[in-house]
Amino acid sequence: MRYGIYSDIHANLEALQAVFARLEQEKIDQYICLGDIVGYGANPKECIQMVLDKKSLVIAGNHDYAVAGKLNLDFFNHFAREAAMWTRKQLTNDEKQFLANLDLVQVIQDILTIVHGTLNFPEMFDYIQTSYDAHLSLELLETPVCFFGHSHVPITFLQGQTVSFSMDEEITIEKNRKTLINVGSVGQPRDENPMASCAIYDAEAGKVSIHRVEYDIEGAIEKIIKAGLPEILGERLRYGR
Ligand code: ZN
Repeated sequence: MRYGIYSDIHANLEALQAVFARLEQEKIDQYICLGDIVGYGANPKECIQMVLDKKSLVIAGNHDYAVAGKLNLDFFNHFAREAAMWTRKQLTNDEKQFLANLDLVQVIQDILTIVHGTLNFPEMFDYIQTSYDAHLSLELLETPVCFFGHSHVPITFLQGQTVSFSMDEEITIEKNRKTLINVGSVGQPRDENPMASCAIYDAEAGKVSIHRVEYDIEGAIEKIIKAGLPEILGERLRYGR
């Protein structure tokens, strides 16, 4: 099985189209979305539709739940809150229901686990940023690998005597060493690389690769401004932060 794994689209249609165009060249058997389809960008409806068209397995992100009314907007900063309220007005009840019904965690065929934030408190949408954060999730992980998102920074944590991390774009999965992989963000990268991020997991080969894809950033920014969303949400796309 070859999995095409992507996260944190944030209603950036230009970025999602570019990522799918890249993955379509890779004989993907199953697409997996790690949440935050919506929030920040100008095309929430179109992004939901594309995720569904690809028959992706999908789990919930905090923005998905917030837009669906399942998460209190008080947890959000000013710009995220404004974007969530704008997005609520764009979506139909069915679309919001789809977001509300998404699970927090899924285990897929005993070989991989997916979550947006952490395995220890998935409903809290905390970040895995330190080795200690990673340790708490690795302790609960029952498959060799877990893919996650939320921080918008691609990074890998490896279990060993202690938990180590790596920024490598090629990762080997070993059955006796559990691994946590953040696949980065499609629609709002924050590692100072503005290119959209996604991953391919070849389960037979035991290899994961992180890919960065160029897309029409200016087109996405223009739409954000036209929609009346906070301009900073466009501006930051240029710098990947
Ligand atoms: Zn996100």
